[in-house]
Amino acid sequence: MDGIKKDYVFHRDLKKEYPIITHGVGVYLIDENGKKYLDACSGAVAANLGHGIISIGESMAEQAKKAAFVHTMRFETKALHELAETIGKMAPIHLNKVYFTTGGSEANESALKLARQFHRDAGRPQKHIVIGRWQSYHGNTIGSLSAGGDVKRRHAYTPNLLNYAHVYSPYCHRCPYDRQKNDCLSKQNWTCVTDIEKTILELGPENVSAFIAEPIVGSQQGAVPPPPGYFEKVRELCDRYEIVLIIDEVMTGFGRTGTNFATEQIGIEPDIITFGKGVSAGYAPLAGMIVHDRLIDGLIQNSDGKFIHGYTYSGHPVAVAAGLAALEVYEQEMVLENVKKQGPYLVNRLLELKQKHSYISDVRGKGLLIGIELVKDRKHDLLFDPSEKAAERLNGIAIELGAVFYPGSGAIDGTKGEHLIISPPLN
Ligand code: PLP
Repeated sequence: MDGIKKDYVFHRDLKKEYPIITHGVGVYLIDENGKKYLDACSGAVAANLGHGIISIGESMAEQAKKAAFVHTMRFETKALHELAETIGKMAPIHLNKVYFTTGGSEANESALKLARQFHRDAGRPQKHIVIGRWQSYHGNTIGSLSAGGDVKRRHAYTPNLLNYAHVYSPYCHRCPYDRQKNDCLSKQNWTCVTDIEKTILELGPENVSAFIAEPIVGSQQGAVPPPPGYFEKVRELCDRYEIVLIIDEVMTGFGRTGTNFATEQIGIEPDIITFGKGVSAGYAPLAGMIVHDRLIDGLIQNSDGKFIHGYTYSGHPVAVAAGLAALEVYEQEMVLENVKKQGPYLVNRLLELKQKHSYISDVRGKGLLIGIELVKDRKHDLLFDPSEKAAERLNGIAIELGAVFYPGSGAIDGTKGEHLIISPPLN
């Protein structure tokens, strides 16, 4: 073994070697050999302000010097209150209580459990099944993975995932229900909505606890916005059958789509919004959920006021300080205005590329969450075989050339369909 450097890292892919990044400046990451990478996907749609922002690092250091850790079972910090207030004020009017976690998976896990406790406390203990959507991602814990539709990641843990139900999310470009877009939109009789009601009735509404969805589908579909009116219909169904509506804004929150939350654009008030990634712009592991007053009232009136849940690092002071400092930078750099300007510019440039190249069949998205669908040949609608891993390979070539995108597959039926997300820092 002499001369062979031992490697102790449990890599994401144990058969791969990864460049070592020494620092980041703005939209660039620089490795130990001095190679520069354009971070065109903000890591994984997280480093939304780019790299090397001194003020965020300083705020974290200040907090660490004062009080690096307190346990929220017994103590809180001023920073926690300030960040909760800032986020609460950004959220829809009746969503006012902010619960912190360290990642998006934990945020969704918390939301699924809160929905269940809410029903239990209200005398509906049998309401336990969650309806999620294929072509969606809500995280890697067993609960969040069970709710999501990432077929490849789910496959490894089947049959022991939770017994949750799934419907297809709307993808009008290639309707999973085989409807023609114009026919469907004009008739207002949307199979992607009627299937939700059919599923609720099949399961028995008395058994259904929550419906969870990304407002704009990220990693599993490649930045696909819903048809206008879809979420209003979902909201109606949730109201009709007393189902908690969870909107997963882990990827879309904090300006990514041009508004603080994409929820503003889908025109509804959810019961819970989960968030992550952008809240600290990737400077610290921070995520959470914002909860509707009626769920909080339920907790206070029907129980001892305790959510039966909790993490050691919930509301971690240093992470919270990073969040506060990041949200200040969003404001100072007028990120929302910039996204509204740069998003359409980027889409137009990508549409020009589409004109030139037959391997791009669709350009879609909102703000600076943009996806392109990749095909072998647009004219003949020839799709890539999943085994070709087209998006991943294209991203590999881009990395060689010094740019990083967010590749994905499975947009069509969980196995077919290749896409690339382009989601640069928002500033
Ligand atoms: N929800 C969505 C929409 C996501 O995109 C992700 C991560 O990519 C998650 C949840 C899980 O977040 P995390 O990886 O921080 O656990």
